[in-house]
Amino acid sequence: MYDVLVVGSANADLTVRVARRPGAGETVLGTDLMESAGGKGANQAAAAARIGGRTALLARVGGDAYGELLLAAQRAAGTDVAPVIVDEHARTGTAMIIVDPDGDNSIVVSPGANAALTPDDVAAAKGVIAASAVVSLQLEIPLETVRAAAAAAEEAGTRVVLNPSPAPEDLDRELLAVADPLVVNEHEARALSGRADGTPTDWAAALRERGARSVVVTLGGDGALVLDDSGTTAVPGVRVEAVDTTGAGDAFTGALATRLAGGATLPEAARFAVRVGAAAVTKPGAQPSYPTAEELAQLPQ
Ligand code: ADP
Repeated sequence: MYDVLVVGSANADLTVRVARRPGAGETVLGTDLMESAGGKGANQAAAAARIGGRTALLARVGGDAYGELLLAAQRAAGTDVAPVIVDEHARTGTAMIIVDPDGDNSIVVSPGANAALTPDDVAAAKGVIAASAVVSLQLEIPLETVRAAAAAAEEAGTRVVLNPSPAPEDLDRELLAVADPLVVNEHEARALSGRADGTPTDWAAALRERGARSVVVTLGGDGALVLDDSGTTAVPGVRVEAVDTTGAGDAFTGALATRLAGGATLPEAARFAVRVGAAAVTKPGAQPSYPTAEELAQLPQ
């Protein structure tokens, strides 16, 4: 029995800091290469496991050193990696990240093994889906696989948390209709609501009208806005010194899913997730920045 099963991507984040990001045809020198565990799926699983959720991950990695790095990071966080498929025919997904002194970045993602996660892999994990209280989904794997996971969860009576990231042009109503909640940041909310000029309340209302059962809009340092059957709830942000916001949204979503699995209402779960997201921005990196329950307790109330 799991609180959270994450079906999604796993990437090795390869980061180099530079004085200036290169233009076309240009070569610049940077710092030493930093390799860390990333990918939205793997990040959400790590966040859920570190905060104490019983967590499993369904993903594909290559049979290479980066695959081992990602598996080791999940095991260290406490995730059950039994469903992870090590694909000897593919390379582990990588994100090549170039960061300038302002913190602005350019990223190239090579999906590698993530592109090979299929609906058949989901079918093979049917038992794990049925044994999980919540299934958490994002869009860094093939859309047909996301759809298959959503359908399998629906059939098993497992709650679906859907984080449509990276933001697609559009999202079909069928997928939206299983999202409980749909978790979007401001950029995704604008893109998917068709209300680019609106407020977070407008975006949430529009997304619910489009079919989402409930909606959470994350608002960076300003916290989050929740819309569900109980109405609209504004969850204030936690004031912290932000060092690196990479993976904050994934920390939020993993924590939210864990609390929902434990029986919290959506506003309660969002209050908790805002704290976990805030803790994650106080340290560099994605997964290395995610707090344990003890670390979270140190955060100002
Ligand atoms: P994403 O990382 O997907 O762009 P957000 O920027 O909305 O998403 O951040 C997700 C969550 O992380 C927020 O709801 C909040 O809890 C936390 N967070 C992000 N930035 C900050 C910040 N500067 N100060 C405090 N908390 C933050």
